[in-house]
Amino acid sequence: MNCPYCGTPKFRTSRLRFADIPRLALLQFPVRCRLCRERFSVGISLALHLLQAQRVREDEEAALRREKYKSKDQTEHPV
Ligand SMILES: [Zn+2]
Repeated sequence: MNCPYCGTPKFRTSRLRFADIPRLALLQFPVRCRLCRERFSVGISLALHLLQAQRVREDEEAALRREKYKSKDQTEHPV
């Protein structure tokens, strides 16, 4: 699946709008292209896959931030 506007396979799930509900009923989920920023719909299975990948990345980033704060705390408040 590529962007119908610029052809890149890189896009992320978009925030749902009220107008997306009829498309959801047809198992289509809105996504936004990372390159040209156009909004379009993809099949729900691909969207769920994207969501999962995004969640994993967010978890990794959150863990990284926690690590950073932890080491910062240790340097600022030595025991
Ligand atoms: Zn595009």
